Amino acid sequence: MGGNEQKYVEEAFATNWVAPLGPHVDAFAQQLAAQTGTTAAAALSSGTAALHLALIIAGVQPGDYVICQSMTFCASANPIRYVGAEPVFVDSEPETWNMDPEALKEAIAFCLKQGKKPAAIIPVHLYGMPARMNEILELARQYEIPVIEDAAEALGSTYMGKPCGGLGDMGILSFNGNKIITTSGGGALVSNRPEDAARARFLSTQAREAAPHYQHEVIGYNYRMSNICAGIGRGQMEVLAERVAQRRANHNFYREALADLPGMRFLVEPEGFFSNFWLTTVLVDPSLSGGITREQIRLELERYNIESRPLWKPMHLQPVYEGTPYFGGDVAARLFENGLCLPSGSNLDTADRSRIAELIRGLWVSETSRLNHAHV
Ligand SMILES: *Cc1c(COP(=O)(O)O)cnc(C)c1O
Repeated sequence: MGGNEQKYVEEAFATNWVAPLGPHVDAFAQQLAAQTGTTAAAALSSGTAALHLALIIAGVQPGDYVICQSMTFCASANPIRYVGAEPVFVDSEPETWNMDPEALKEAIAFCLKQGKKPAAIIPVHLYGMPARMNEILELARQYEIPVIEDAAEALGSTYMGKPCGGLGDMGILSFNGNKIITTSGGGALVSNRPEDAARARFLSTQAREAAPHYQHEVIGYNYRMSNICAGIGRGQMEVLAERVAQRRANHNFYREALADLPGMRFLVEPEGFFSNFWLTTVLVDPSLSGGITREQIRLELERYNIESRPLWKPMHLQPVYEGTPYFGGDVAARLFENGLCLPSGSNLDTADRSRIAELIRGLWVSETSRLNHAHV
C-alpha cells in the first residue's frame, strides 16, 4: 500500500458509501481512463469479468472463433468459453513473448477457410512487455476484427509512446492482489468509445433498465467494483509511477547481476517498447549453462524459502483446452520449459535481491568447479 488508501477507505465509511457504486468508483474509473489514454472506463469486480463483458460488447456469439495468445494466464482465454465461443490459440514471437503476427495471420486464414471470420483478437502484454501492436492492429483492421487488449499485467507500460490498454478497440485491466497495483480484487474495461464503458456498467449492474421497478431486457451480471475497493484503487494510483520504477529497478538489478552467466537470458525492450517489468523473467538454456536448468534454480531458491515460479503454461498445452486449434511453432512451449519468474515484489530491497542473485550465481560456480574437476 502507498499511504493514502486507508484515508479513502475511511472516507467511504464516513460518508456511508459502502456499496458497489459511489464517488470513489467514479473517480477511480476516470483516473484509469486518463492513465490508459482512453475516453471512458468501467470499474469492475475483476479483470476476468472485464474480459467477459468486452467479448459480449464486441458482439461475440456462441460458435464464433476468438483468437487468443496461447502464452498467457488462463483468464485471457476462459471468458471465450463463457460466451460459448471457440478459442483459436497462437504462438508467441521470441522478442516480446507475445502474440506472433505471422501466426495470427495463419489463424485468421484458418477461420476464414471455415467460413467464419474471427469475432475478436485477444493479444496480451505479458509480464508488462507490450505486444507488437502495430502489426496486430494492421491485420485486425484489414479484416475488420475487434482487438481486445489484455493489459492486466501492463498498467504503466507504453508502446510507441502510448499507454497499453488504450491501443486496441477495448482494453482490460486487473487489480488482483498480485498485480502492479491492487484493489484487493478488481478490474476495469477501458475504451475510446464511451458507449462501451457505459454498456459495461449496464451489464455489470444485472442489466437493469432505467425504470423505477426492476426491468430486465437482456441477461446481466453482478460485476461491479465496490466503493471500498475503488478507494484503495485511488490510493494505489498515486503510487503507480513509483511501483513501475521499483519493478524496473528489480529487473535492472537482476540483469546487471546475472546477465553474464552463460545460458541466462533476459527480456530486452525493443525500440519504442516500455515495460513496467511487473515480473522479472529469465530464460535458462541448459545447452549453454553447463546443464543448469530453470528448475534447478527454482529448487535452489526454494531451499532458502524463496519463491520463484515457472512462466505461464501455454493454453494450447493445458488439458482443459486439448484439441483446440493452435497456430505457430514451439516458442511458447520452449518459454514454458526454460523460463522462470524471479522474485519481483515492489518491496524487495538491495539486500534481498543480492541474496537471490548470489544463490543463483552459486549454481554456476559449483557447476564450473565440477566441470573443471572432471577435466582434471
Ligand atoms: C490477472 C490476469 C487476468 C485476470 O485478472 P483477474 O482480476 O485476476 O480476474 C487476465 N489476464 C492476465 C494476463 C492476467 O495476468
